[in-house]
Amino acid sequence: MSKDYETVIGLEVHVELATKTKIFCGCSTAFGGAPNTHVCPVCSGMPGALPVLNKKVVEYAAAVGLATHCTINQNCKFDRKNYFYPDNPQNYQISQLYEPICQNGYVEIETEAGSKKVGIHEIHMEEDAGKLIHDDWQDCSYVDYNRSGVPLIEIVSEPDMRSADEVIAYLDKLRLIIQYLGASDCKLQEGSMRADVNLSVREAGSAKLGTRTEMKNLNSFKAIARAIANERQRQIDLLEEGRPVVQETRRWDDNQEYSYAMRSKEDAQDYRYFPEPDLVPVVISDQWLQEIKSRQPELRDEKLRRYKTEYQIPDYDARILTSSKKMADLFEETAAICKKPKKVSNWLMVEAMRLLKEENLEPEDLSFSPAHLAALINLTEEGAISGTVAKEVFEAVFREDVDPVSYVEEKGLKADTDADALKKILEQVIADHPQSVTDYRNGKEKALGFLVGQTMKATRGKANPAMINQMLREML
Ligand code: ADP
Ligand code: ZN
Ligand code: MG
Repeated sequence: MSKDYETVIGLEVHVELATKTKIFCGCSTAFGGAPNTHVCPVCSGMPGALPVLNKKVVEYAAAVGLATHCTINQNCKFDRKNYFYPDNPQNYQISQLYEPICQNGYVEIETEAGSKKVGIHEIHMEEDAGKLIHDDWQDCSYVDYNRSGVPLIEIVSEPDMRSADEVIAYLDKLRLIIQYLGASDCKLQEGSMRADVNLSVREAGSAKLGTRTEMKNLNSFKAIARAIANERQRQIDLLEEGRPVVQETRRWDDNQEYSYAMRSKEDAQDYRYFPEPDLVPVVISDQWLQEIKSRQPELRDEKLRRYKTEYQIPDYDARILTSSKKMADLFEETAAICKKPKKVSNWLMVEAMRLLKEENLEPEDLSFSPAHLAALINLTEEGAISGTVAKEVFEAVFREDVDPVSYVEEKGLKADTDADALKKILEQVIADHPQSVTDYRNGKEKALGFLVGQTMKATRGKANPAMINQMLREML
């Protein structure tokens, strides 16, 4: 008889902070420069070079801690984690082990069974490593230190998650909080947010945690879900065969849908951590902490509540609009200009989302100006352009941020409200489709729709359908 097993998951999430310069030197953090062009003696580990802490890193880390209900450790410090790897030129990483900047927080996630708190054990600051590029053709590896010294925070959760759905809800929640704070763009695919999944299984009802493994290299929600399902089953199979789960780090290969052991799990003592001698401890004064607190922006949950009361839009709309900081900002700014929040919401939720999907983009990539969307909404409200034309204009706004007023002017897209001109076209349509005219006169309403359609076609979508409808009825 097979037993019931529970999955237990804790996450270690690395997030690259959006500072302009690195954590301990003035080099640029910009992504994608030519290899080894954003480097200096500090971030390439030259002897005698000394680190100086970037103040902004402390502020971002504390802001994330405050938003996740952590206690801020006003006297924290850095430690050295010693290990050799070619992408790590100092042979150590400056991180925080003994006194991390934030501790004991939580975030609330929505699950099928209602909302649930996932504990945050700690958040610490550290530096990123460089990147190795393996060239299989030439059988050699290159190293690029541009990323060496880019600031990271590591958010360590408690083992509070029980399924892939909860893990994804947790990551999405963190992403939204951090994006709203402007602390990072949190892109899994580009590596500015990276999640390591610690997973164990235990017999349902057992209070004792099982032995866990840690999985690395997960760069999409789909990969995370597949890796979790696969690792859960692998561990259950071992236990069912009476074999032990080995505590180790495994690498997930999403193409093969399979993970393999990378190295046996190392302990903190293996790294010979010691207090970083080149940096003074960080003291966050009450006043500084107060300043950071006063700069905290409105976060997603508050915004969601406010949208429903202030703009009177449905919960469904509010959720989609606030699912990205960029989209929420666009919504608010456009609504402030044209004063028609529901119309703004419709354009963003329907057409903008459709085009984003078509282009394989994220809401964060929306780049048109609120004034242009507002102008488009005003044109449709005044009846100056038809619905069909409005969609065409929106695409031009979406893609090139055109000014709808001059665009409509230049392309001659203004709706024809000239009754005489329309009447001539209607006469032609009527003459061309005698059968439909007879059908309509014999009581077939559908025939009228056909004639309206023909007229719209003849005016290239520029006429006002309500006007056509009314005039047709009169003329027939
Ligand atoms: P270490 O110091 O060895 O890295 P930690 O105690 O810091 O281990 O935990 C690392 C991560 O693993 C945390 O996110 C934690 O929630 C998770 N974790 C710890 N024990 C388990 C377990 N038995 N099952 C699943 N996850 C676990
Ligand atoms: Zn540098
Ligand atoms: Mg740890």
